[in-house]
Amino acid sequence: MIHGKQLVTVENLKNGRGELHPVQQAMVETNGSQCGYCTPGFVMSLFSLYKNKNNPSREEIDDSLTGNLCRCTGYKPIVEAAATACVHHGMDEFSEHQPHIATLLKSIPRESLQLQTGEQLYLRPTKLSEALSLVRLHPDAFVISGATDVALRVTKKHEILKEIIDLSGIDELKSVSDKSDVLTIGAGTSLSDAMVSLRIEFPALFYMLSVFGSQQIRNIATFGGNLGTASPIGDTLPVLMAYNAKVNLSSSSKRREVPLDEFVVGYRKTVRRPDELITAVVLPKMKNGTIVKSYKVSKRKDLDISTVSGGFRLDLDENNVVENIKLAYGGMAETTKRASKAETFFVGKAWHREIVEEAMALVGREFSPISDARSGAEFRSVAARNLLLKFWYETAK
Ligand SMILES: Cc1cc2nc3c(=O)[nH]c(=O)nc-3n(C[C@H](O)[C@H](O)[C@H](O)COP(=O)(O)OP(=O)(O)OC[C@H]3O[C@@H](n4cnc5c(N)ncnc54)[C@H](O)[C@@H]3O)c2cc1C
Repeated sequence: MIHGKQLVTVENLKNGRGELHPVQQAMVETNGSQCGYCTPGFVMSLFSLYKNKNNPSREEIDDSLTGNLCRCTGYKPIVEAAATACVHHGMDEFSEHQPHIATLLKSIPRESLQLQTGEQLYLRPTKLSEALSLVRLHPDAFVISGATDVALRVTKKHEILKEIIDLSGIDELKSVSDKSDVLTIGAGTSLSDAMVSLRIEFPALFYMLSVFGSQQIRNIATFGGNLGTASPIGDTLPVLMAYNAKVNLSSSSKRREVPLDEFVVGYRKTVRRPDELITAVVLPKMKNGTIVKSYKVSKRKDLDISTVSGGFRLDLDENNVVENIKLAYGGMAETTKRASKAETFFVGKAWHREIVEEAMALVGREFSPISDARSGAEFRSVAARNLLLKFWYETAK
């Protein structure tokens, strides 16, 4: 996957005279390293911050460090190192070799790639039509976009993936189209890139992505990949359901659009046929007055998987009566699932706390969540009910 890219390692950060990079020097000066185990990772995250931001805000510093865990030094001196080192003007000597590298990188032709070793076949097409032919020809291949999910098979289970079709070289899958009535996000758009278009008109999805993994994950993880996992704790599914999103699927011969409510059909199972690829997510724009909110309950804010999540949608009439409501939950069943009994119960009733409390009891009866490493079933059930109360609390007039 790094073909055509530059890989910078921590060993490579010193300059020609053997002097530490400013972020390394700042880590020394602020006592940002204690046992040293996490230090190379932190240094690389600071290096990335240094390259991308000049004089970053505290929020930007914190966000840049969410993918790294420190368990002994504490974050205060590391944040201090970031604030001291990442103030610079123009190019410094640590960047001067970059134009040369950029030229070299640009000289690598951007064409389809096929790597065959004794054990593995890696295919990276550059056109969607080519990718669609490849999935037909290699029905057992692993399709990857960012590979943040699939790669765990390699790093955790030590599997050898025999055939891989990597979609990350296809620009057609990375486009975002903003029309007056819909926003269409290509399935290969990274979550970080998509966030730019979501902040104003789809704030509940923007919020969900801001607590999705860490910046490193969001920079390569995609919508296609999150939907492709069909994970019951996938973070985008409940909120995309609340936005009435649709999924575009294509094969060599046909294109179709499937409402997200109908996309997942079982535990990690979707309606996608083996010869199809997810090509885009379509988000209809909302009419004035419709409220959509999303919630993620996890053990910590960043870099954690949901214990329970919710994507809720509400339309009230002028008398504060519920016209439409959608309550989609993650982490409560083997798929993302709507609390359909509570939804039916609400329609035509006043958006009052007593009604909400009755609906909370229905939510409690509608799901039979499991206990696992993240939480007990009882906690999940209470959290799901309370998310509904929170939704009411945040939206009641
Ligand atoms: C450290 C870490 C933190 C994480 N945090 C979160 C989190 O907070 N919330 C969360 O929901 N997930 C999280 N994940 C899981 C993962 O990052 C997401 O599911 C991500 O969206 C996957 O996207 P990807 O492009 O990397 O998918 P990939 O790994 O490339 O693919 C995932 C699946 O989707 C399929 N697929 C990919 N693209 C397509 C396509 N265009 N058409 C058809 N099928 C396709 C693949 O075949 C595969 O089955 C985390 C993972 C890691 C490693």
